[in-house]
Amino acid sequence: MKIMCKWCNVSMNCHIVSEEISEHHGTYGIDSVKMAKIKIHKHFKGKNYCKGSDRTITTPMDKINDNKVHYQ
Ligand SMILES: [Zn+2]
Repeated sequence: MKIMCKWCNVSMNCHIVSEEISEHHGTYGIDSVKMAKIKIHKHFKGKNYCKGSDRTITTPMDKINDNKVHYQ
């Protein structure tokens, strides 16, 4: 799967490290939302490692579709 790296603005390879259930207080009470921890693979920006290399982000599972993940 892919993630749009916000430092290079290029779609990079990533994978899901773990999944967890998070509770949100919504309009209709407490909702449980499935969250995924996503690790961005190491990559270069020019000659140096990009700041997004090896970073882990957490995003709702339902935001992951079409092989594209965006930052919240
Ligand atoms: Zn990057």
